[in-house]
Formats: sequence, structure tokens, C-alpha cells
Amino acid sequence: MLSELAGFLFPLRCAGCAVLLEPRAPGWLCPSCFARIEWLEDPLCAACGIPLAAGAGACCERCLSRPQSFRRARAVIRYAADGAAAEGVVGSILRRHKYGYDQCLGAVLLECLVKRMPLEPADYDLVAPVPLHWTRLWRRGFNQAALLARGLAARFGLAFEAELLFRRRRTPSQTARGQAARAQNVRHAFGVAKPARLAGRRVLLVDDVMTTGATASECARVMLEAGAHFVDVLALARAV
Ligand SMILES: [Zn+2]
Ligand SMILES: [Zn+2]
Repeated sequence: MLSELAGFLFPLRCAGCAVLLEPRAPGWLCPSCFARIEWLEDPLCAACGIPLAAGAGACCERCLSRPQSFRRARAVIRYAADGAAAEGVVGSILRRHKYGYDQCLGAVLLECLVKRMPLEPADYDLVAPVPLHWTRLWRRGFNQAALLARGLAARFGLAFEAELLFRRRRTPSQTARGQAARAQNVRHAFGVAKPARLAGRRVLLVDDVMTTGATASECARVMLEAGAHFVDVLALARAV
């Protein structure tokens, strides 16, 4: 009754195309936007989760030649990194959420992640986000990865550790860099603020968008060094 009244007073609009939603429509996207989401489907690299060609081996060549520090990484949505026209429904919401003021969009992103949760929540003791440098956090006001991590932890009843990791220095944008340069760019960029909370723990590290995995791998490396049992990575979107 209350929600019907709220729906009448504040009609919900689709987060993708702004069309008015049916009062009883589940979620925050209209059916046509929902149908356009590019979910990542098998076969995926067993280690880093990047899509593989059908018939390829269990792991991608990058993981075979240079193993990452995390045990495995998974993402739920394909993110086209080559410009706004190709970014897709969820990519557009990610960008508008990150650089805009519409915080309601965070709920849509969390729903996408929860709907296709590719990892078993019971396998983890705690959820932690990839941190932003404090200057960037201060300018932007929030960390998209931390919002996702907090929502995920609440949904699955896991402990959430917002400040387990911190960024020692600002890293220049990874966007225009190759694989090796990305790894070099983030080397020693992270520190563990609370090592006692990590000892023997099974960690789920959350990020909004993952590209080569260099950032997540460096975070995992310092967490393992600080005593974590293992680190898995979950990103909403994978730039491919
Ligand atoms: Zn729509
Ligand atoms: Zn891989």
C-alpha cells in the first residue's frame, strides 16, 4: 500500500532510458534495457575471468605466462572501454553514477551484481573494496567500489572492511597503458592499514571495473603478504 502510494507520487523511471516503469515492475530497468545488458558468459578464464574463445584452454595466455596474485577474479558485465557509444546500458549507468549526482543509480549497479553473483558468498570471511586515493575520494565524495562492496556484504551477511587497504600514492590513469606498464604503474601503490584483520582470512576484493587485473593483483599481493588466506576479486564490469 505504502509502496503503491510512493509509486504514484514519485513514479520510477528506468535508469537506462528514463521511460516510466510499471508500478509493479521489478528492479530499476525497463525490460528492453534489461534485455540489452551484456552479461559475461562462459567460457571464462578460470583465473582472471576474461572471456575465452570456445574450445580454448582453461586459462587465458596472460594468466598462463604471468600468474596474478589473486586466486581468481570474476565480473558479471562486459564493459566496452572504447567510448560512450559502445559502453552499453550498465556502462552508461556506471559512468553517470561515478561522475554525476544521482546516487540512486548505485542500487541499480548493486542489483546487477547480486543478480548474477558468480562466486559463492559462503567462501569468504570479509569483503573489502579497491581503495581510491584520498584526494580523489575527497573530490568525488565516494568510492564506487566501496558502495558496491558494502551493499554486497550487507546482502550476503558478510563482514565489510572499508579501510583495510589504502592507496599510498596517486597512480596516473591506467587507461592508455599496456599490460606491463599497468602492473608497473600500480606497483607498491597500496598498503594494508589493518593487517590484524587479515590474518588467515578469506577475502573478497571488490572493484567497479576491472581491466587487465593489474590493480586487483597488486592489492591481492599486499593482502597476502599481510597474512590473508586467499584473495578473490569480484568486479561489476570487465573491460574487454
Ligand atoms: Zn530502459
Ligand atoms: Zn586469465
